[in-house]
Amino acid sequence: MLQTLDDFKGTNLEADVIIWKHNHDGMLSVSRLYNRKVKELPGEISGPWSKVWKNKVPTKVRCFSWLVARRACITHEKFQRRGFEIASWCSLCNETNETNSHLFLHCKVTAQLWATKQNTHKLNNARTHCRPP
Ligand SMILES: [Zn+2]
Repeated sequence: MLQTLDDFKGTNLEADVIIWKHNHDGMLSVSRLYNRKVKELPGEISGPWSKVWKNKVPTKVRCFSWLVARRACITHEKFQRRGFEIASWCSLCNETNETNSHLFLHCKVTAQLWATKQNTHKLNNARTHCRPP
C-alpha cells in the first residue's frame, strides 16, 4: 500500500499554481478582493462606503466623510475608551457627551452648519438654474 501511494504521481502532471477562484482569469488584485468583501457585507454596512467614495465632492471631503463614517475621528469618547480620564462634554455645545454621532450629526451647532450648507447648496442651485442664457 505504501509503495502504491509512493508511486502515485497525481492526476495532473502540471505544476500547482495559486488562483483566485472568484475571477475567470484567476488573478487576485486588491480592488477585486475589496469588491468581493464589500459584496459580502450586509447592506447597512456596505452602503455608506460607496456613497462616500462615489460622491462628487473634493477628495478632502470624501476622506473626512470616510473618517466620520468609520468613527475614526478622535473624540472624547475615543479618549475615554483608551483609558484617559477626561470629562466628556461636547466641544461645540457643552451639553452632552462628545461622541462621534453627536459631534458630527446630532449636535445643535453641527445641525446649524448642516442647515447652512444645505441652504447654500440650494441657493447655488437656484442661481445656476436662474442664470440668463
Ligand atoms: Zn454638541
